[in-house]
Amino acid sequence: MIEKRNIPISLPVTGLEEWEAIKEPLMSGWLTSGPKVRQFEQDFAKRHKVNHAIAVTSATTALHLALAALDIKEGDEVIVPAFTWVSTANVVLYQGAKVIFCDIDPATFNIDPVKLKNKISPKTKAIMIVHLFGLCADMDAIKEVSGDIPLIEDGACAAGAAYKGIPAGGLGDIGCFSFHPRKSITTGEGGMVTTNNDALGEKMGMLRNHGASISEEQRHHGPKPFILPDFNMMGYNYRMTDLQGAVGVVQLSKIDLFINERQKWADFYKKELAGIEWIKLPEISSDFKHGWQSFVTLIDEEKAPFSRNTIMEKLQEQGISTRPGTHAVHMLNFYAEKYDIQPDEFPGAKLANDASMAIPLHNRMTEEDYKYVVQTILSL
Ligand SMILES: *Cc1c(COP(=O)(O)O)cnc(C)c1O
Repeated sequence: MIEKRNIPISLPVTGLEEWEAIKEPLMSGWLTSGPKVRQFEQDFAKRHKVNHAIAVTSATTALHLALAALDIKEGDEVIVPAFTWVSTANVVLYQGAKVIFCDIDPATFNIDPVKLKNKISPKTKAIMIVHLFGLCADMDAIKEVSGDIPLIEDGACAAGAAYKGIPAGGLGDIGCFSFHPRKSITTGEGGMVTTNNDALGEKMGMLRNHGASISEEQRHHGPKPFILPDFNMMGYNYRMTDLQGAVGVVQLSKIDLFINERQKWADFYKKELAGIEWIKLPEISSDFKHGWQSFVTLIDEEKAPFSRNTIMEKLQEQGISTRPGTHAVHMLNFYAEKYDIQPDEFPGAKLANDASMAIPLHNRMTEEDYKYVVQTILSL
């Protein structure tokens, strides 16, 4: 008998360094976006090889800023993969535009470039490219069909990932990232938008700060702090706090350590679980550097001893947390009713919804934890 262990699906690595980092903003009293956020943005831009990185409150607000900066509005269509987190679609509705779902390839869980081609219409004003679970989408195949339609990368899971040597965030027109505790690095809640386009960068910088023409830090430290800035557009308050920025600087300095460690244990899973015929493991070509936000398998229910849900239940009984990879957004009540969509209109997304299973892979796990997960799955 192996001794039972308790292994959560994910747990961020935060500790004394982050604790130390928040002292400075707390002591100085500069708590909103300021020097720490600026540092985090500069470091993030450098690591992801982009010209502009603008910190915001979440990936959801990052995605919304991207659409607002592109002037997406009522009457426009935005293509969204059917298997993603719900907010990739919600932000399209925030702008009054229409969500056009596109099926995914269950082999990668990312948008299917062949099916994407048929979704493009004269009304298509942007395409949401999700790099799900940290694996970049097949950008070359997508660009072959997308023409000059702006590409927004939903890289919520993909900080530190890359495609053909180019980091996520610089693969499309605008990149969006999340620092929720379940992602690669965390600031509690938080997000980032990136771009190489100067005009979009400037516009998103203003939009996240109510549309103000200069930032609060610039104003307070400028020659006339008493004069309020001009507002040339309607914006939002999507500013990240300097507490989060300080944590982000520390987290980002460890991103490659985190990813390399997850890569090592992803390889371990792939080697140790390779013999099980009912569990399909992620396969990645050498064009991709995976960020391993999570390790998502696909259960073949015809060959498996139990259904996906029973397997998840049995693993939970043994202390191992699992989750479906994410959800098929077209199958959520709100979207199914709004657009009158049937589940099998997007069979790839439906399969991923019903048969995907993420198993624990994170930087708080020990060698014993990984071995326990493998042994427990082998014993099913
Ligand atoms: C987590 C996630 C989001 C939302 O990120 P938040 O920072 O929580 O807003 C959006 N898209 C994808 C693909 C995600 O995984």
